[in-house]
Amino acid sequence: MKHISLIFVFLLISSGLSGTGIKAGVARKAITPDPVSIWMGGYAARTKPASGVIHDIWAKAIVIENSKGGHFVIVTTDLLSISHQISEEVAEKIINKFGIKRSELLLTCSHNHSGPVILPSYFEFTPNELQTVARYAQKLTDDIFDVVCNAWSDLKPAKLSSGHGNAAFGKNRRAESIKIRPEDHDVPVLAISAPDGKLRAVLFGYACHNTTLTGSNYEICGDYAGFAQIELEKRYDGITAMFFQGCGADIDPSPRGTIAHAQQHGLTIAEAVSGVLSGEMKQIDDPIRSGYRVIDLEFQPADIEYYNEEILSQDKYRQRRAKLILEAYNKGWDMSRIQYPVQAVRFGNDLTFIGLGGEVVVDYALFIKNEYPGQNLFIAGYSNEVMLYIPTVRILNEGGYEPYSSMIYKGFPAPLKNNVEQKVKNAVISVLKDIGIRTRK
Ligand SMILES: [Zn+2]
Repeated sequence: MKHISLIFVFLLISSGLSGTGIKAGVARKAITPDPVSIWMGGYAARTKPASGVIHDIWAKAIVIENSKGGHFVIVTTDLLSISHQISEEVAEKIINKFGIKRSELLLTCSHNHSGPVILPSYFEFTPNELQTVARYAQKLTDDIFDVVCNAWSDLKPAKLSSGHGNAAFGKNRRAESIKIRPEDHDVPVLAISAPDGKLRAVLFGYACHNTTLTGSNYEICGDYAGFAQIELEKRYDGITAMFFQGCGADIDPSPRGTIAHAQQHGLTIAEAVSGVLSGEMKQIDDPIRSGYRVIDLEFQPADIEYYNEEILSQDKYRQRRAKLILEAYNKGWDMSRIQYPVQAVRFGNDLTFIGLGGEVVVDYALFIKNEYPGQNLFIAGYSNEVMLYIPTVRILNEGGYEPYSSMIYKGFPAPLKNNVEQKVKNAVISVLKDIGIRTRK
């Protein structure tokens, strides 16, 4: 009898020592363009390629594996967007090599407006410039795959813990005449530590455009998210700090315009993350469950005659959009809809990560938080693919850049239909139900 209880005590202690059966691996790779003279993404007004580097930009990965073979692989990048092609190619390579499910891989970006162009949507590039963009995109695809492979080789017993901080510099950027101005100041933090408690990596998010630096900046930089990562890597020796963008499509940093502002906001986020790391954090356990759904979002119908007229417009962006749409029309492509990915990954009953494609306005994050009170939610926009803005009915009714003019710059045929809001909300509810979480209603 005495013998059995000793074994029992030993098991309890050893499970405490080794954490929860969770392993984690971390890796990073600089993705600073070399040579640097590539066009930068995010501002249509830029007139020339990049001419310098303020600091390196990165692809970083965490691989988490639980004892039952479940995985969560998250890649963060200091980039404006992730294209459909890069996302598909990277996912296929990772799935083939490691045998994980698509739902276990989350590709994100910081929506950095001071990094290289991934898709040449705004610009009329020369053939040489197009080649530079295509070469960078191919190297990026390889780099993201490499960084995941390296994180996989780094798998070792780990402890996960989480908490939430706060930062207030993200301000609603819609026209001042608009009265409803929601914001989300949450700074979710996931810490990855060795079993002895030593911090190995920290993953944190914020819902705010990474646009402190404007179109007058021609030097590669990670903006406030880049400065936040650098600051945290300075404060905690040997760690990898990783940023994901929240639903910050209608939020801008304030103030903005200078490198000093970007550093200041980076410091604010780093302070918020440090505050969480030094406080009481929630332990995160197995199992890992994940879901991934792809839905169709529909564009408002538009007559082909409209583009035949638009192509004669004096506005070069309208002219270019019309050219793209007419080309697609002549090839017989379906331009009535676009695919949209929605993902969720849940750790035990402790933490749920939601990844929404595109530039998601803040209303969605606030809706999800309200619908699932008491859940520890990490909500990322700009996940798996960044194609267009995801407005709500309110924002479609209000008009403005996000639901309307951005569609011209990005080369889409028309604004999304009003049913986008219900479709995206339903997809979130369904994917959460897939992993065992029900809405309170
Ligand atoms: Zn944006």
